[in-house]
Amino acid sequence: MFNNNLCILCGSLFVGFAVIFVVYKLLFMRKHSSGDNSTLLGSQYLQAIFGGGQSLGTFGSMAMADWQRKPELPTEIQGQGKGYVSAPDMRNNSLTYPDTKYVKDLRNPIYRAISRQNGEINRMSKEQMKAKLAELSLNTSGIGEILRTRLKTHYKNHLMGQDGLETPCTQRNYDYLCVIDFEATCEEPTPIDYIQEIIEFPIVLVNTKTMKIEDKFDSFIRPELNPRLSTFCKDLTSITQKQVDRADLFPVVLSRVHEWMKTKALGKEHSFIIVTDGPWDMNMYLNVQCKLSQVRYPSYARQWINLCKTFSNFYKTKRMCLRNMLAALEMGFDGRPHRGIDDAMNIANIAIRLMEDGCELEVNDRLSQ
Ligand code: AMP
Ligand code: MG
Repeated sequence: MFNNNLCILCGSLFVGFAVIFVVYKLLFMRKHSSGDNSTLLGSQYLQAIFGGGQSLGTFGSMAMADWQRKPELPTEIQGQGKGYVSAPDMRNNSLTYPDTKYVKDLRNPIYRAISRQNGEINRMSKEQMKAKLAELSLNTSGIGEILRTRLKTHYKNHLMGQDGLETPCTQRNYDYLCVIDFEATCEEPTPIDYIQEIIEFPIVLVNTKTMKIEDKFDSFIRPELNPRLSTFCKDLTSITQKQVDRADLFPVVLSRVHEWMKTKALGKEHSFIIVTDGPWDMNMYLNVQCKLSQVRYPSYARQWINLCKTFSNFYKTKRMCLRNMLAALEMGFDGRPHRGIDDAMNIANIAIRLMEDGCELEVNDRLSQ
């Protein structure tokens, strides 16, 4: 009898607390979504309920602002009128691999041969590796880890090729890489709740078969929230006030990007994937800008190749910024750092070097909300 009463008491307390928790969270969300008919994105509800947040610098510390509400998109921005061009789709992108790709028969003696070869390379000095690479007419520049990976990959692919086994190959996955590096408004120090707007949209097109840069797109964008660039921003990016004053707003530039992609048959005859040097370009700059400008986030930009991850995983180095990746490869920076098109060209050069060294570029990052 006493036990039954105890159970009923505990059950009632649990239900009571659950009801109080849900009511409290609903009130909390309403407080942050001022405006009656505002609609929060699903993930923002989850964020509000579970208290999650993005650690994205200024973005992470922002209170929920107007642009964070799901925008009511004007139809012309959805690519149905006024000359706006809809985004290329990904139907022809072969983003899945053949099932056989990673099926590895470890009983095959070839893997023992590869392992023996790797052991030998591990015992080589930097000078010995350079001499061996030169003998094989391969690139000899880079820090020790890079030379070691280059040599191991060469022998591994050679042995596997001899045995008729499939070797890693980016061009099987994508015809083109679209290397993107946004520049955005900024201030130093960064004011609380500062929202960065994209001011330069560059794309460098790399053909994975020829491993060459085939074309470029570059456009400045006029910011609306902070139309005057700070001295810090102008010094950092070398973008002038005149260049952004004369530029179009983001939706117009995005539609020109899509037009350009269509002339290259990207997403139609040719598969492509975006490449960046970190998670921020898509997760923060493009994501925030699409909400600000009330345009739909392009589906092709929901996943991409984060080259910093690819680089450190392939060469077995620590995570590096663009400048350090170039330094590790003993490649100089062409152009001016923090100018979008120059950054994108240099990222493209690293992607090409990775492919030449036998690295298979594949999707390794995606939109986090
Ligand atoms: P990046 O691709 O490294 O040139 O950086 C992209 C954007 O990040 C720049 O356009 C700036 O808005 C911002 N940014 C880069 N470096 C800094 C910095 N040191 N301080 C403040 N903002 C920066
Ligand atoms: Mg940049």
